[in-house]
Amino acid sequence: MRWHNWSGGQTAQPTRFVRPSTEAEVVEVVRRAAEDGLRVKAVGAGHSFTPVAVTDGVLVNLDNLSGLVAVDTAAMEVTFLAGTRLRDVPALLRPHGLALANQGDVDPQSLAGAVSTGTHGTGVGLTGFAGMVRGLRTVTADGTVHDVGPGDALFDVGRVSLGALGVTTRITMSVVDSFVLSAVEKAEPLAPLVGEFPARAAAVDHLEYYWFPGTDRAHVKTNTRFSLQDAAAAQLPGPVPRWRSVVDDELVSNAAFGAMCTLMHLVPRTTGAMNRLAAATLAQREYSDVAHDVFVSARRVRFNEMEYAVPLADAPEVLTEVHRRIDSSGLPVGFPIEVRCTAADDVPLSTAKGRESCYVAVHRYHRDDYRELFAVVEPVLTAAGGRPHWGKLHTLDHDALAAVHPDLGEVADLRSRVDPDGMFRNPMVDRIFGL
Ligand SMILES: Cc1cc2nc3c(=O)[nH]c(=O)nc-3n(C[C@H](O)[C@H](O)[C@H](O)COP(=O)(O)OP(=O)(O)OC[C@H]3O[C@@H](n4cnc5c(N)ncnc54)[C@H](O)[C@@H]3O)c2cc1C
Repeated sequence: MRWHNWSGGQTAQPTRFVRPSTEAEVVEVVRRAAEDGLRVKAVGAGHSFTPVAVTDGVLVNLDNLSGLVAVDTAAMEVTFLAGTRLRDVPALLRPHGLALANQGDVDPQSLAGAVSTGTHGTGVGLTGFAGMVRGLRTVTADGTVHDVGPGDALFDVGRVSLGALGVTTRITMSVVDSFVLSAVEKAEPLAPLVGEFPARAAAVDHLEYYWFPGTDRAHVKTNTRFSLQDAAAAQLPGPVPRWRSVVDDELVSNAAFGAMCTLMHLVPRTTGAMNRLAAATLAQREYSDVAHDVFVSARRVRFNEMEYAVPLADAPEVLTEVHRRIDSSGLPVGFPIEVRCTAADDVPLSTAKGRESCYVAVHRYHRDDYRELFAVVEPVLTAAGGRPHWGKLHTLDHDALAAVHPDLGEVADLRSRVDPDGMFRNPMVDRIFGL
Protein backbone atom coordinates (compact mmCIF):
# COMPACT_ATOMS: atom_id res chain seq x y z
CA MET A 1 0.00 0.00 0.00
CA ARG A 2 1.15 3.53 -0.71
CA TRP A 3 0.42 6.11 1.99
CA HIS A 4 0.54 9.90 1.65
CA ASN A 5 -0.10 12.71 4.07
CA TRP A 6 -2.81 15.39 3.72
CA SER A 7 -0.71 17.78 1.62
CA GLY A 8 0.64 14.98 -0.59
CA GLY A 9 4.20 16.11 0.25
CA GLN A 10 5.10 12.94 2.21
CA THR A 11 4.68 9.39 0.97
CA ALA A 12 5.51 5.96 2.33
CA GLN A 13 5.33 2.36 1.27
CA PRO A 14 4.76 0.44 4.51
CA THR A 15 5.19 -3.34 4.53
CA ARG A 16 1.95 -3.68 6.49
CA PHE A 17 -0.93 -1.31 7.24
CA VAL A 18 -3.00 -2.39 10.24
CA ARG A 19 -6.06 -1.03 12.04
CA PRO A 20 -6.29 -2.75 15.43
CA SER A 21 -9.64 -2.53 17.23
CA THR A 22 -8.45 -3.37 20.74
CA GLU A 23 -5.44 -2.67 22.88
CA ALA A 24 -4.65 -6.41 22.87
CA GLU A 25 -4.44 -6.22 19.07
CA VAL A 26 -2.01 -3.28 19.36
CA VAL A 27 0.20 -5.39 21.64
CA GLU A 28 0.01 -8.22 19.09
CA VAL A 29 0.96 -5.85 16.24
CA VAL A 30 4.03 -4.70 18.18
CA ARG A 31 5.06 -8.27 19.14
CA ARG A 32 4.69 -9.54 15.56
CA ALA A 33 6.66 -6.60 14.19
CA ALA A 34 9.46 -7.39 16.66
CA GLU A 35 9.48 -11.05 15.52
CA ASP A 36 9.60 -9.97 11.87
CA GLY A 37 12.29 -7.34 12.50
CA LEU A 38 10.01 -4.53 11.27
CA ARG A 39 9.76 -0.98 12.48
CA VAL A 40 6.40 0.43 13.63
CA LYS A 41 4.79 3.87 13.32
CA ALA A 42 1.41 4.97 14.54
CA VAL A 43 -0.45 7.30 12.22
CA GLY A 44 -3.54 9.41 12.80
CA ALA A 45 -5.09 11.56 10.08
CA GLY A 46 -1.78 12.12 8.26
CA HIS A 47 -2.15 15.85 8.85
CA SER A 48 1.53 16.41 9.62
CA PHE A 49 3.44 18.12 6.85
CA THR A 50 6.69 16.51 8.07
CA PRO A 51 7.65 12.83 7.56
CA VAL A 52 7.04 12.27 11.29
CA ALA A 53 4.58 9.40 10.63
CA VAL A 54 6.44 7.83 7.68
CA THR A 55 7.63 4.21 7.83
CA ASP A 56 8.57 1.35 5.54
CA GLY A 57 7.61 -1.07 8.32
CA VAL A 58 4.20 -1.43 9.97
CA LEU A 59 1.90 1.58 9.83
CA VAL A 60 -0.65 1.40 12.65
CA ASN A 61 -3.83 3.44 12.44
CA LEU A 62 -6.06 3.69 15.52
CA ASP A 63 -9.29 4.88 13.85
CA ASN A 64 -10.95 1.76 15.31
CA LEU A 65 -9.74 2.69 18.81
CA SER A 66 -11.94 5.74 19.12
CA GLY A 67 -14.38 7.05 21.73
CA LEU A 68 -14.79 7.81 25.43
CA VAL A 69 -13.39 5.53 28.12
CA ALA A 70 -14.18 7.50 31.29
CA VAL A 71 -15.50 10.87 32.42
CA ASP A 72 -14.49 12.27 35.82
CA THR A 73 -16.46 15.47 36.31
CA ALA A 74 -15.03 16.01 39.82
CA ALA A 75 -11.46 16.09 38.48
CA MET A 76 -12.60 17.62 35.15
CA GLU A 77 -10.73 14.90 33.28
CA VAL A 78 -11.85 12.72 30.39
CA THR A 79 -10.14 9.61 29.06
CA PHE A 80 -10.36 8.97 25.32
CA LEU A 81 -9.20 6.12 23.17
CA ALA A 82 -6.17 7.57 21.44
CA GLY A 83 -7.45 7.26 17.86
CA THR A 84 -10.44 9.54 18.56
CA ARG A 85 -10.65 12.20 15.86
CA LEU A 86 -10.98 15.77 17.15
CA ARG A 87 -14.10 16.21 15.01
CA ASP A 88 -15.81 13.51 17.11
CA VAL A 89 -14.89 15.05 20.48
CA PRO A 90 -17.76 17.62 20.72
CA ALA A 91 -20.46 14.94 20.33
CA LEU A 92 -18.72 12.74 22.91
CA LEU A 93 -18.40 15.55 25.48
CA ARG A 94 -21.68 17.42 24.87
CA PRO A 95 -23.88 15.00 26.89
CA HIS A 96 -21.59 15.67 29.87
CA GLY A 97 -21.63 19.46 29.43
CA LEU A 98 -17.87 19.44 28.78
CA ALA A 99 -15.46 20.67 26.12
CA LEU A 100 -11.76 20.88 25.33
CA ALA A 101 -10.36 24.19 26.59
CA ASN A 102 -8.72 25.15 23.31
CA GLN A 103 -8.17 23.83 19.79
CA GLY A 104 -6.41 24.50 16.52
CA ASP A 105 -8.19 25.58 13.37
CA VAL A 106 -9.14 22.18 11.91
CA ASP A 107 -10.46 18.98 13.47
CA PRO A 108 -9.74 15.88 11.33
CA GLN A 109 -6.65 15.05 13.45
CA SER A 110 -6.53 12.16 15.89
CA LEU A 111 -6.13 13.10 19.53
CA ALA A 112 -2.88 11.09 19.75
CA GLY A 113 -1.51 12.78 16.63
CA ALA A 114 -2.41 16.25 17.90
CA VAL A 115 -0.79 15.62 21.29
CA SER A 116 2.31 13.88 19.87
CA THR A 117 3.37 16.85 17.71
CA GLY A 118 2.39 19.63 20.12
CA THR A 119 -0.60 20.87 18.16
CA HIS A 120 -1.96 24.17 19.50
CA GLY A 121 -4.59 26.82 18.98
CA THR A 122 -4.38 30.43 20.04
CA GLY A 123 -4.87 32.15 23.41
CA VAL A 124 -2.15 33.34 25.73
CA GLY A 125 -3.95 31.98 28.80
CA LEU A 126 -4.11 28.45 27.39
CA THR A 127 -1.60 25.78 26.40
CA GLY A 128 -1.61 23.52 23.36
CA PHE A 129 -2.93 19.94 23.46
CA ALA A 130 0.13 18.43 25.18
CA GLY A 131 -0.24 20.80 28.14
CA MET A 132 -3.80 19.54 28.70
CA VAL A 133 -2.84 15.85 28.99
CA ARG A 134 -3.30 14.29 32.45
CA GLY A 135 -2.58 10.63 31.70
CA LEU A 136 -1.39 8.27 28.97
CA ARG A 137 -1.52 4.59 28.22
CA THR A 138 1.22 3.46 25.85
CA VAL A 139 2.37 0.12 24.40
CA THR A 140 6.16 0.11 24.21
CA ALA A 141 8.46 -1.96 21.97
CA ASP A 142 8.52 -4.99 24.29
CA GLY A 143 4.72 -5.17 24.22
CA THR A 144 4.28 -3.80 27.76
CA VAL A 145 1.28 -1.54 28.44
CA HIS A 146 2.23 1.45 30.61
CA ASP A 147 -0.40 3.54 32.40
CA VAL A 148 1.39 6.76 33.27
CA GLY A 149 0.60 10.13 34.80
CA PRO A 150 2.31 13.18 36.32
CA GLY A 151 5.55 12.16 38.01
CA ASP A 152 6.31 9.30 35.57
CA ALA A 153 9.16 9.92 33.12
CA LEU A 154 7.20 8.22 30.36
CA PHE A 155 4.31 10.63 30.96
CA ASP A 156 6.55 13.67 30.89
CA VAL A 157 8.15 12.79 27.59
CA GLY A 158 5.29 10.73 26.21
CA ARG A 159 3.14 13.79 25.59
CA VAL A 160 5.14 15.34 22.73
CA SER A 161 6.43 11.87 21.81
CA LEU A 162 6.71 12.22 18.01
CA GLY A 163 5.52 8.60 17.94
CA ALA A 164 9.04 7.61 19.00
CA LEU A 165 8.24 5.86 22.28
CA GLY A 166 5.45 3.45 21.40
CA VAL A 167 1.80 3.32 20.40
CA THR A 168 -0.48 5.34 22.68
CA THR A 169 -3.87 3.72 23.19
CA ARG A 170 -5.54 6.06 25.73
CA ILE A 171 -5.19 9.71 26.63
CA THR A 172 -6.68 11.50 29.63
CA MET A 173 -7.28 15.19 28.97
CA SER A 174 -8.27 18.00 31.31
CA VAL A 175 -11.56 19.51 30.15
CA VAL A 176 -13.70 22.55 30.94
CA ASP A 177 -17.43 23.24 31.10
CA SER A 178 -18.98 23.73 27.65
CA PHE A 179 -18.63 27.35 26.60
CA VAL A 180 -19.55 29.82 23.92
CA LEU A 181 -17.19 31.98 21.90
CA SER A 182 -18.14 35.42 20.75
CA ALA A 183 -16.15 36.09 17.58
CA VAL A 184 -15.15 39.35 15.91
CA GLU A 185 -13.40 39.09 12.53
CA LYS A 186 -12.27 42.27 10.83
CA ALA A 187 -9.55 43.93 8.77
CA GLU A 188 -7.04 46.17 10.56
CA PRO A 189 -3.89 48.09 9.59
CA LEU A 190 -0.94 45.71 9.95
CA ALA A 191 1.77 47.90 11.55
CA PRO A 192 0.00 48.88 14.81
CA LEU A 193 -1.31 45.33 15.25
CA VAL A 194 2.20 43.91 14.99
CA GLY A 195 3.62 46.46 17.43
CA GLU A 196 0.90 45.75 19.96
CA PHE A 197 0.62 42.01 19.42
CA PRO A 198 1.81 40.85 22.91
CA ALA A 199 -0.37 43.42 24.69
CA ARG A 200 -3.39 42.70 22.48
CA ALA A 201 -2.91 38.95 23.03
CA ALA A 202 -2.85 39.44 26.81
CA ALA A 203 -6.02 41.54 26.76
CA VAL A 204 -8.30 38.98 25.08
CA ASP A 205 -9.00 35.24 25.29
CA HIS A 206 -8.02 34.26 21.73
CA LEU A 207 -6.24 36.40 19.14
CA GLU A 208 -4.92 35.55 15.71
CA TYR A 209 -4.29 37.32 12.45
CA TYR A 210 -3.74 36.51 8.81
CA TRP A 211 -1.64 38.71 6.56
CA PHE A 212 -1.68 38.52 2.77
CA PRO A 213 1.83 39.49 1.54
CA GLY A 214 2.04 42.72 -0.38
CA THR A 215 -0.82 44.28 1.57
CA ASP A 216 -0.67 46.53 4.64
CA ARG A 217 -3.74 45.10 6.33
CA ALA A 218 -4.38 42.04 8.48
CA HIS A 219 -7.49 39.95 8.95
CA VAL A 220 -7.85 39.77 12.75
CA LYS A 221 -9.88 37.20 14.66
CA THR A 222 -10.67 37.89 18.31
CA ASN A 223 -12.70 35.41 20.36
CA THR A 224 -14.13 35.97 23.84
CA ARG A 225 -15.19 33.09 26.10
CA PHE A 226 -18.61 33.00 27.81
CA SER A 227 -20.13 30.35 30.07
CA LEU A 228 -23.42 29.03 28.65
CA GLN A 229 -25.34 31.03 31.30
CA ASP A 230 -23.45 34.27 30.69
CA ALA A 231 -23.81 33.86 26.94
CA ALA A 232 -27.59 33.56 27.29
CA ALA A 233 -27.71 36.72 29.42
CA ALA A 234 -25.26 38.70 27.28
CA GLN A 235 -27.47 38.86 24.18
CA LEU A 236 -24.58 37.96 21.91
CA PRO A 237 -24.99 37.96 18.12
CA GLY A 238 -26.18 34.55 16.94
CA PRO A 239 -24.29 31.93 14.90
CA VAL A 240 -23.35 32.68 11.31
CA PRO A 241 -26.48 31.91 9.24
CA ARG A 242 -26.14 28.77 7.12
CA TRP A 243 -26.30 30.71 3.81
CA ARG A 244 -23.56 33.10 4.96
CA SER A 245 -21.36 30.27 6.15
CA VAL A 246 -21.73 28.66 2.71
CA VAL A 247 -20.72 31.94 1.04
CA ASP A 248 -17.90 32.96 3.46
CA ASP A 249 -16.44 29.61 4.46
CA GLU A 250 -17.10 27.40 1.45
CA LEU A 251 -17.24 29.73 -1.56
CA VAL A 252 -14.84 32.53 -0.56
CA SER A 253 -12.42 30.71 1.79
CA ASN A 254 -12.31 27.41 -0.10
CA ALA A 255 -13.78 27.28 -3.63
CA ALA A 256 -12.85 30.81 -4.76
CA PHE A 257 -9.58 30.76 -2.86
CA GLY A 258 -8.71 27.40 -4.45
CA ALA A 259 -9.39 28.85 -7.92
CA MET A 260 -7.23 31.88 -7.08
CA CYS A 261 -4.39 29.61 -5.91
CA THR A 262 -4.55 27.66 -9.19
CA LEU A 263 -4.44 30.92 -11.15
CA MET A 264 -1.50 32.26 -9.08
CA HIS A 265 0.30 28.94 -9.57
CA LEU A 266 -0.15 29.11 -13.36
CA VAL A 267 0.34 32.91 -13.69
CA PRO A 268 2.46 34.05 -10.71
CA ARG A 269 2.31 37.74 -11.69
CA THR A 270 -1.39 37.77 -10.73
CA THR A 271 -0.43 37.14 -7.07
CA GLY A 272 -0.33 40.77 -5.90
CA ALA A 273 -3.79 41.51 -7.30
CA MET A 274 -5.16 38.25 -5.93
CA ASN A 275 -3.79 38.98 -2.45
CA ARG A 276 -5.40 42.41 -2.44
CA LEU A 277 -8.66 40.82 -3.55
CA ALA A 278 -8.43 38.06 -0.91
CA ALA A 279 -7.64 40.58 1.84
CA ALA A 280 -10.61 42.71 0.76
CA THR A 281 -13.16 39.90 0.45
CA LEU A 282 -12.48 37.96 3.66
CA ALA A 283 -15.50 38.05 5.94
CA GLN A 284 -15.93 40.99 8.32
CA ARG A 285 -18.37 39.59 10.82
CA GLU A 286 -19.47 39.21 14.43
CA TYR A 287 -21.16 36.06 15.68
CA SER A 288 -21.18 33.59 18.54
CA ASP A 289 -21.47 29.84 18.71
CA VAL A 290 -20.43 26.79 20.72
CA ALA A 291 -16.65 26.95 21.01
CA HIS A 292 -15.73 24.05 18.74
CA ASP A 293 -17.68 25.51 15.82
CA VAL A 294 -15.88 28.84 16.18
CA PHE A 295 -12.38 27.38 16.59
CA VAL A 296 -12.60 25.08 13.60
CA SER A 297 -13.07 25.76 9.90
CA ALA A 298 -12.83 23.62 6.77
CA ARG A 299 -9.53 23.72 4.90
CA ARG A 300 -10.05 22.28 1.45
CA VAL A 301 -7.25 24.08 -0.41
CA ARG A 302 -4.15 21.98 0.16
CA PHE A 303 -0.86 23.55 1.18
CA ASN A 304 2.47 22.89 2.86
CA GLU A 305 3.39 24.74 6.02
CA MET A 306 6.27 25.82 8.21
CA GLU A 307 5.55 27.17 11.70
CA TYR A 308 7.85 28.32 14.48
CA ALA A 309 7.20 29.44 18.05
CA VAL A 310 9.19 32.47 19.20
CA PRO A 311 9.04 34.20 22.61
CA LEU A 312 5.85 36.28 22.67
CA ALA A 313 7.66 39.33 24.00
CA ASP A 314 9.83 39.38 20.86
CA ALA A 315 6.88 39.11 18.49
CA PRO A 316 6.82 42.75 17.28
CA GLU A 317 10.44 42.68 16.02
CA VAL A 318 10.18 39.16 14.63
CA LEU A 319 6.88 39.76 12.84
CA THR A 320 8.04 43.07 11.40
CA GLU A 321 11.12 41.37 9.96
CA VAL A 322 9.14 38.38 8.63
CA HIS A 323 6.72 40.69 6.83
CA ARG A 324 9.58 42.83 5.48
CA ARG A 325 11.60 39.87 4.20
CA ILE A 326 8.62 38.29 2.44
CA ASP A 327 7.64 41.54 0.76
CA SER A 328 11.20 42.34 -0.32
CA SER A 329 11.85 38.77 -1.55
CA GLY A 330 9.79 39.42 -4.66
CA LEU A 331 8.33 35.91 -4.34
CA PRO A 332 4.70 35.54 -5.38
CA VAL A 333 3.18 34.37 -2.08
CA GLY A 334 -0.52 33.68 -2.44
CA PHE A 335 -1.24 32.15 0.95
CA PRO A 336 -1.63 34.28 4.09
CA ILE A 337 0.86 34.25 6.98
CA GLU A 338 -0.91 33.17 10.19
CA VAL A 339 0.06 34.47 13.64
CA ARG A 340 -1.15 33.03 16.98
CA CYS A 341 -0.04 32.75 20.62
CA THR A 342 -0.20 30.37 23.58
CA ALA A 343 0.68 30.15 27.25
CA ALA A 344 3.91 28.54 28.41
CA ASP A 345 3.76 24.86 29.35
CA ASP A 346 6.06 22.40 31.13
CA VAL A 347 6.19 19.68 28.47
CA PRO A 348 9.59 18.46 27.24
CA LEU A 349 10.04 19.16 23.50
CA SER A 350 6.96 21.39 23.47
CA THR A 351 7.42 24.47 21.31
CA ALA A 352 6.04 26.51 24.24
CA LYS A 353 8.03 24.92 27.07
CA GLY A 354 8.81 27.55 29.67
CA ARG A 355 7.76 30.56 27.60
CA GLU A 356 4.68 32.36 26.34
CA SER A 357 4.88 31.91 22.61
CA CYS A 358 3.97 33.62 19.39
CA TYR A 359 3.47 31.18 16.48
CA VAL A 360 4.33 32.34 12.98
CA ALA A 361 3.07 30.07 10.20
CA VAL A 362 4.02 30.33 6.53
CA HIS A 363 1.96 28.40 3.97
CA ARG A 364 2.56 27.50 0.35
CA TYR A 365 -0.03 26.14 -2.10
CA HIS A 366 0.64 22.41 -2.47
CA ARG A 367 1.50 22.70 -6.18
CA ASP A 368 4.10 25.43 -5.52
CA ASP A 369 7.65 24.69 -4.37
CA TYR A 370 7.72 25.80 -0.74
CA ARG A 371 11.50 25.74 -0.23
CA GLU A 372 12.39 29.19 -1.55
CA LEU A 373 9.78 30.97 0.58
CA PHE A 374 10.52 28.97 3.71
CA ALA A 375 14.24 29.72 3.25
CA VAL A 376 13.44 33.46 3.27
CA VAL A 377 11.57 33.28 6.57
CA GLU A 378 13.26 30.48 8.54
CA PRO A 379 16.49 32.40 9.36
CA VAL A 380 14.45 35.19 10.98
CA LEU A 381 12.66 32.65 13.17
CA THR A 382 15.75 30.65 14.11
CA ALA A 383 17.67 33.86 14.93
CA ALA A 384 14.88 34.63 17.41
CA GLY A 385 15.39 31.26 19.16
CA GLY A 386 12.37 29.83 17.38
CA ARG A 387 11.27 26.24 17.87
CA PRO A 388 9.72 24.50 14.86
CA HIS A 389 6.33 22.77 15.14
CA TRP A 390 7.01 19.02 14.90
CA GLY A 391 4.20 18.49 12.41
CA LYS A 392 5.35 21.31 10.12
CA LEU A 393 8.27 21.64 7.73
CA HIS A 394 11.64 22.97 8.83
CA THR A 395 15.32 22.31 8.14
CA LEU A 396 16.81 22.08 11.65
CA ASP A 397 19.12 19.18 12.49
CA HIS A 398 19.84 17.62 15.88
CA ASP A 399 22.37 20.25 16.98
CA ALA A 400 20.14 23.17 16.05
CA LEU A 401 17.17 21.54 17.79
CA ALA A 402 19.25 20.83 20.91
CA ALA A 403 20.10 24.54 21.09
CA VAL A 404 16.43 25.49 21.46
CA HIS A 405 15.24 22.38 23.35
CA PRO A 406 17.53 22.03 26.39
CA ASP A 407 15.79 18.74 27.32
CA LEU A 408 16.44 17.04 23.97
CA GLY A 409 19.36 15.01 25.43
CA GLU A 410 17.27 13.79 28.36
CA VAL A 411 14.44 12.77 26.05
CA ALA A 412 16.93 11.01 23.77
CA ASP A 413 18.21 8.97 26.76
CA LEU A 414 14.71 7.91 27.73
CA ARG A 415 13.88 7.06 24.10
CA SER A 416 16.90 4.77 23.82
CA ARG A 417 16.01 3.02 27.11
CA VAL A 418 12.35 2.51 26.19
CA ASP A 419 13.07 1.50 22.59
CA PRO A 420 16.62 0.01 22.59
CA ASP A 421 16.21 -1.73 19.21
CA GLY A 422 14.75 1.33 17.52
CA MET A 423 11.35 -0.13 16.66
CA PHE A 424 9.77 3.34 16.57
CA ARG A 425 12.58 5.07 14.69
CA ASN A 426 12.20 6.58 11.24
CA PRO A 427 14.40 9.07 9.35
CA MET A 428 12.77 12.05 11.06
CA VAL A 429 13.21 10.57 14.55
CA ASP A 430 16.84 9.89 13.62
CA ARG A 431 17.35 13.49 12.48
CA ILE A 432 15.80 14.91 15.66
CA PHE A 433 17.73 12.69 18.07
CA GLY A 434 20.99 12.68 16.09
CA LEU A 435 20.91 8.89 15.56
C1 LIG B 1 -5.07 21.67 7.32
C2 LIG B 1 -4.23 21.54 8.57
C3 LIG B 1 -4.46 22.40 9.62
C4 LIG B 1 -3.67 22.30 10.78
N1 LIG B 1 -3.91 23.16 11.81
C5 LIG B 1 -3.12 23.12 12.91
C6 LIG B 1 -3.32 24.03 13.99
O1 LIG B 1 -4.25 24.84 13.98
N2 LIG B 1 -2.45 23.98 15.04
C7 LIG B 1 -1.40 23.11 15.06
O2 LIG B 1 -0.63 23.14 16.02
N3 LIG B 1 -1.22 22.20 14.09
C8 LIG B 1 -2.06 22.18 13.02
N4 LIG B 1 -1.86 21.28 12.02
C9 LIG B 1 -0.84 20.22 12.22
C10 LIG B 1 -1.47 18.97 12.83
O3 LIG B 1 -2.34 19.29 13.89
C11 LIG B 1 -0.41 18.04 13.42
O4 LIG B 1 0.56 17.75 12.45
C12 LIG B 1 -1.00 16.75 14.01
O5 LIG B 1 0.04 15.95 14.47
C13 LIG B 1 -1.78 15.94 13.00
O6 LIG B 1 -2.50 14.92 13.66
P1 LIG B 1 -2.69 13.53 12.94
O7 LIG B 1 -3.71 12.73 13.66
O8 LIG B 1 -2.90 13.74 11.50
O9 LIG B 1 -1.26 12.86 13.20
P2 LIG B 1 -0.23 12.25 12.14
O10 LIG B 1 0.28 13.33 11.28
O11 LIG B 1 -0.85 11.07 11.48
O12 LIG B 1 0.93 11.79 13.13
C14 LIG B 1 1.66 12.75 13.84
C15 LIG B 1 2.57 12.07 14.85
O13 LIG B 1 1.79 11.49 15.87
C16 LIG B 1 2.20 10.13 16.06
N5 LIG B 1 1.03 9.36 16.48
C17 LIG B 1 -0.19 9.34 15.91
N6 LIG B 1 -0.98 8.48 16.59
C18 LIG B 1 -0.23 7.95 17.58
C19 LIG B 1 -0.45 7.00 18.60
N7 LIG B 1 -1.64 6.41 18.75
N8 LIG B 1 0.55 6.68 19.43
C20 LIG B 1 1.77 7.26 19.30
N9 LIG B 1 2.06 8.16 18.36
C21 LIG B 1 1.06 8.51 17.50
C22 LIG B 1 2.71 9.70 14.69
O14 LIG B 1 3.56 8.58 14.78
C23 LIG B 1 3.43 10.94 14.26
O15 LIG B 1 4.71 10.96 14.85
C24 LIG B 1 -2.63 21.31 10.87
C25 LIG B 1 -2.42 20.45 9.79
C26 LIG B 1 -3.20 20.56 8.65
C27 LIG B 1 -2.96 19.61 7.50
